[in-house]
Amino acid sequence: MPAGNSGLPAVLRLTGVTKTFPGGVRALDDVSLTIGRGELLAIVGPSGSGKSTLLNVMGTLDLPTRGTVEIAGQDAASLNDRRLSALRGRWLGFVFQQFHLTDGLTAAENVATSLLYAGVSRRRRAPLALTALERVGLGHRVGHLPHQLSGGERQRVAIARALVNEPALVLADEPTGALDSANGGAVLDLLVRLNREGTTIAVITHDGNIADQLPRQVEMRDGRVVRDTGPRTGPAPEGTP
Ligand code: ADP
Ligand code: MG
Repeated sequence: MPAGNSGLPAVLRLTGVTKTFPGGVRALDDVSLTIGRGELLAIVGPSGSGKSTLLNVMGTLDLPTRGTVEIAGQDAASLNDRRLSALRGRWLGFVFQQFHLTDGLTAAENVATSLLYAGVSRRRRAPLALTALERVGLGHRVGHLPHQLSGGERQRVAIARALVNEPALVLADEPTGALDSANGGAVLDLLVRLNREGTTIAVITHDGNIADQLPRQVEMRDGRVVRDTGPRTGPAPEGTP
């Protein structure tokens, strides 16, 4: 992997990314951003500033109009659809505001779905799903269906599903946005703990209070990065080996 600006290997690198939608809206305007392994950062900005568009481009769910997106050193534009979805399955985990769990599946089955897509054998899926649910404090809820779980528990299942493949980067879009403040706080605490245990996480939020609790803030306005506090571990001066 190429080095990130913290000196750690970069898990994601955007260079000069512009996204223009049909009709001419420029949702992203020359965005460059490097995320190093082990980081926990907030991408923060008001509604309409380009956060979701940025998440889609970072997650290779959408391609930029201009600029490059590299995941773990691989240029997303050089891959066909099949390889791109393999890259997503291998390197990325997604957490959404509305959880996006499958209704008829238990917590364990929802988590195991990620493993199915990653090609893990049936026999190994159940124990890995259980371990992931234990990591998020839901070892006692493995057989519950989504409607039998609270909102906070559902989001923790979604986080376990995002983690179970040990992705290089977890992308979380407003992960506390559908939760009350107590459950939202618990989910944020969980993300902080998982980061301490080694997971690289980008949290997209419109909420400055949430952003301020994370070690790095990247602020978006009108499709541009207007502030980036950079990785917390002091960046090496330019040109330092
Ligand atoms: P945020 O997530 O920060 O609210 P978005 O990335 O959703 O911002 O949107 C950024 C801008 O791009 C907005 O002006 C929005 O209206 C526009 N936009 C987003 N998606 C599309 C689309 N599919 N087609 C046209 N314009 C879009
Ligand atoms: Mg959005």
